[in-house]
Amino acid sequence: MPALSTTLDQYEIWFFTGSQNLYGEETLRQVADQSQEIARALDAAGDIPVKVVWKPVLKDSDSIRRAALDANANDNVIGLIAWMHTFSPAKMWIAGLDALTKPLLHLHTQANVELPWADIDFDFMNLNQAAHGDREFGYIQTRLGVARKTVVGHVSNPGVTAQIGSWSRAAAGWAASRSLKVARFGDNMRYVAVTEGDKTEAELRFGVQVNTWGVNELADAVHASSDAAIDALVAEYEDLYEVVPELRNGGDRHESLRYGAAIELGLLSFLEEGGFGAFTTSFEDLGALRQLPGLAVQRLMAAGYGFGAEGDWKTSVLVRIANVMGAGLPGGASLMEDYTYDLVPGQELILGAHMLEVSPALTTTKPTLEIHPLGIGGKEDPVRLVFNADPGPAVVVAMSDMRDRFRLVANVVEVVEPTAALPNLPVGRAVWRPEPDFATSAAAWLTAGAAHHTVMSTAVGIEVFHDFAEIARTELLVIDKTTTLRDFTREVRWNQAYYRLAQGL
Ligand code: MN
Repeated sequence: MPALSTTLDQYEIWFFTGSQNLYGEETLRQVADQSQEIARALDAAGDIPVKVVWKPVLKDSDSIRRAALDANANDNVIGLIAWMHTFSPAKMWIAGLDALTKPLLHLHTQANVELPWADIDFDFMNLNQAAHGDREFGYIQTRLGVARKTVVGHVSNPGVTAQIGSWSRAAAGWAASRSLKVARFGDNMRYVAVTEGDKTEAELRFGVQVNTWGVNELADAVHASSDAAIDALVAEYEDLYEVVPELRNGGDRHESLRYGAAIELGLLSFLEEGGFGAFTTSFEDLGALRQLPGLAVQRLMAAGYGFGAEGDWKTSVLVRIANVMGAGLPGGASLMEDYTYDLVPGQELILGAHMLEVSPALTTTKPTLEIHPLGIGGKEDPVRLVFNADPGPAVVVAMSDMRDRFRLVANVVEVVEPTAALPNLPVGRAVWRPEPDFATSAAAWLTAGAAHHTVMSTAVGIEVFHDFAEIARTELLVIDKTTTLRDFTREVRWNQAYYRLAQGL
């Protein structure tokens, strides 16, 4: 499948080092050498998935502003790391920070690990003074209200590069969001509240363009698929999946599988032609399509596209962003829906699935490709992939429109093996245990007004989503092992005030 670009290979983070001209040539040469070493170490770090590019040491207001403008103008630059190796008087940073539109990470580090107790003199002190240079920089960032991530420690510490790596992934998600176009086929499911939202505000906040196309334009593309292309795709299915006999070439229902392949081909050509990275469908509005898209949607999510069912463009955006943030990591991202519970006391579990549309990126097993009736929508039986999500850590994240802002709510969860086989449930599904416990998680989720649709990511964890929310200046409520319902409820109330004040009155 000619997939949408979901790699991070083209992205760069620029490394800025602050100083000033007072130090003289010899010290500034050492600042340049040592900051290049740090940038090189970050660039070589396995957990930082993008290039880190050192930039010449910044020593005055004009060059800082110019460097910020250059970063703004370069689409491959997804963020900046700034470090004040020496003392860089921070009024020099006002114009640059004020002009900067890219995500910022303040790295509070120094060149040496150990303090050279026996040899230290005042030249050394003069050169290695991030301890106070970075405090000056922290002050001006806070005074200007600059959103940034602050990471502390030597770059040889794996915890430091891991944090920078998480932020890099969030910055890549932000870059993808800023250029994302979402195609909606049909509108929201009728009468549903939580999948609604302000698409104009979303374009301002996240940069996403969300627009609607008549589903029959998609149907035309589906019905224009050539027999040869369908043959090739069906062969690919038979290679990749356990295709049930009735769907195989020669089977009674092989035509249904061919129609599923036509949906994939038509959908993909429509998305590629329009430059879309995400889409939604609506089972209430399928026009001339003969099946609800199931298999095609599952495979497109696994190829990097965002998807939301029932017109849910907000979740579609989250799935696309999560796919980019998790690029190259094991696991994946998928639309998920909290469906039903196992309420055995002390062992409560959530069973998540959807009518059809769960991404096979959540499993390393070979899915089965099956056909079953769908008791909703009044169309022909749809083909779909059936599997269990792999056990392991995951996060589910939902977006709600709270009228004056968007709210993200995330729950840290552990995907587990289903307690028993599910022979009569023919969909992709995940079973998970939420942190801190089922009752607290569900009560907090309901208190936050979080949606029943989420993105489930098994590739990136809560830190990446947290960093994304900070970059996007968007509220994020986290439900994890530290959550108590009393504190969470207070945070919801406080946020109600804070986010109104933070956006101006
Ligand atoms: Mn749904």
